[in-house]
Amino acid sequence: MRATAVKYPVHPVYPFIHGAPRVPGVRSIAQTHMTTEHNESRKAKAIALVSGGLDSTLAVRLMQEQGVEVEGLHFYTGFCITEQQRRSGNPKAEGKPNDGLRAGSELGIPVEIVDISKEYLEIVTNPKHGYGANVNPCIDCRSMMIRKAGEVMRERGADFVITGEVLGQRPMSQNRRAMDVIEGEAELEGRLVRPLSAKNLPTTVVERDNLIDREQLKGFNGRTRKPQMALARELGVEDYMQPAGGCCFLTDENFARKFRDLFAHKPDIQLDHDQIMMLTVGRHFRLPGGMKVVVGRDAGENSMIQSLVTRGVIAGGNLIVVEDHKGPMTVVTDGDAADRALAAAITARYSDAREGTVVPVRIWDPTCQEQPQGELLNITVAALDLDPVRI
Ligand code: SF4
Repeated sequence: MRATAVKYPVHPVYPFIHGAPRVPGVRSIAQTHMTTEHNESRKAKAIALVSGGLDSTLAVRLMQEQGVEVEGLHFYTGFCITEQQRRSGNPKAEGKPNDGLRAGSELGIPVEIVDISKEYLEIVTNPKHGYGANVNPCIDCRSMMIRKAGEVMRERGADFVITGEVLGQRPMSQNRRAMDVIEGEAELEGRLVRPLSAKNLPTTVVERDNLIDREQLKGFNGRTRKPQMALARELGVEDYMQPAGGCCFLTDENFARKFRDLFAHKPDIQLDHDQIMMLTVGRHFRLPGGMKVVVGRDAGENSMIQSLVTRGVIAGGNLIVVEDHKGPMTVVTDGDAADRALAAAITARYSDAREGTVVPVRIWDPTCQEQPQGELLNITVAALDLDPVRI
């Protein structure tokens, strides 16, 4: 069966009630959790978080081995590296399918992409449980995704939610305390199954009701991935996203530096996805007068920068190019005349004009003037020590 990207609305949490269903076509929790006798007569159904990585793939496979019907959810946060590469025309993303849909196709389950990017901005800027090593709010992030999965579980009359979490694998979100917090905040007590580590965790309602057999679950623990690799071989799982290829900017220290710099200089900024896109492209500098400078590294980034500034999404943004030479598109905001001259010199430095050449560099605001109406500076191309101003 091929994976499909079917769109289902995600409804608010339905309360755990006993008795008749309150939403037409949706079984109540009481109906889904009847007796062992009842459970033996029907197939259990689970909602899985499917990232496309090995762990979530194995979690689904273990459930399939037990005859559980699985439907997948792949969450789009707006911080996915591959998706950003796709949007900026980066050749690395060319031909790459969405990881969740690819995994669904391999597993033979339907996978829905759930866009949580708007509400996600709130937890990225103001995480209740703080950040990990960089600006990754992993506990808030997992809580949100698993809570949404719980809503889908109730809406579709499924019995439980599964994830590929492994106890002790990630310092922030996969330790016992954090996993308990996530389960509680997701309002899924007893209905969240982590098949790869289940034997190290308390018995769930799902196991007690014999919807699944605890004996066939795993007790993986820690950062080693050897048991997962062995299980993958055993279950014939071959195609999965490499663990090192992580798909989240928030764990990247370069991104984190730019993110922190932005908030240090604009503490009241209302973050949106265009500004985030701006943090993911180009070389970034903060000049002595406070000017922010972003220099495109290739044609895709140059056109992304131009489009963001021309659309007016970077407030007060001016563009800089070297006229008559191939070179980057640069965007600058804030700063004084000295910063403007330095930003022009940086742009010239990254053009293909030779050192010592004098080049015409144009600075203009595309939201209110044409390029030829902008300020023209004659800059001598020179090697610059940019380390002190690099973000
Ligand atoms: S790495 Fe990113 S996507 Fe994964 S849990 Fe942390 S914040 Fe969420």
